[in-house]
Amino acid sequence: MDKRTFLKNSAILALGGTVATSLPGSLVSAMAKGSAAGETYTLPKLDYAYDALEPHIDAMTMEIHHSKHHAGYTRKFNAALESGGLQETSIKDLFKKASKQPAAIRNNGGGFYNHEVFWKSLSPKGGGTPGGDVGKAIEKNFGSFDKFRELFSKAAATRFGSGWAWLVKTNSGLVVTSTPNQDNPLMDVADQQGYPLLAIDVWEHAYYLKYQNRRTEYIEAFWNVVNWDFVNERFNKAAK
Ligand code: MN
Repeated sequence: MDKRTFLKNSAILALGGTVATSLPGSLVSAMAKGSAAGETYTLPKLDYAYDALEPHIDAMTMEIHHSKHHAGYTRKFNAALESGGLQETSIKDLFKKASKQPAAIRNNGGGFYNHEVFWKSLSPKGGGTPGGDVGKAIEKNFGSFDKFRELFSKAAATRFGSGWAWLVKTNSGLVVTSTPNQDNPLMDVADQQGYPLLAIDVWEHAYYLKYQNRRTEYIEAFWNVVNWDFVNERFNKAAK
């Protein structure tokens, strides 16, 4: 019996009780779990204060983005899981079959996951150039850090409308890509699939209060707060 069948059977044995969803292969980071009825995922706390990324990302943007936008995705994801009877399916499996999911699962599941990666991609102690294994891999894959930065900034700037730019690890090395809306590279619908190491949110809600239409200024500011320790952790986790 495969893991999914086992989980489903366990759910039946539990007579409808919520079964903790495992995330096999740890392709997806450990997700915060809630315990209230019908609540599978909870809004993760930030590792820093809303004003900690000033002046690069302003406090009001951070507060609204986290406490309203991300909270909304989390709430709607839980509701969609409940109405679809999908609480026992891992988020990784949902993404692998995103093309077959209801839009509410794809959009809000992506919104839940992407923002978690994004908050952790940022740190008030961030910026500079990456060291460690990911620093070496970036130089090997892109020629230099500056070339990678240029490519990533361009992917973020040229993503039409709302979406994300990503650095992902694939079987053939590191790749820069972007996705529309709340899609991500773990989804089967993504042009470039891979394991996300670094994310930038280029929805207008991520920058409009401070930067208005100047998305490229926001992208430039982002580099001052990139949490390279987190990117290194993800890289090493993906390598296993
Ligand atoms: Mn966002």
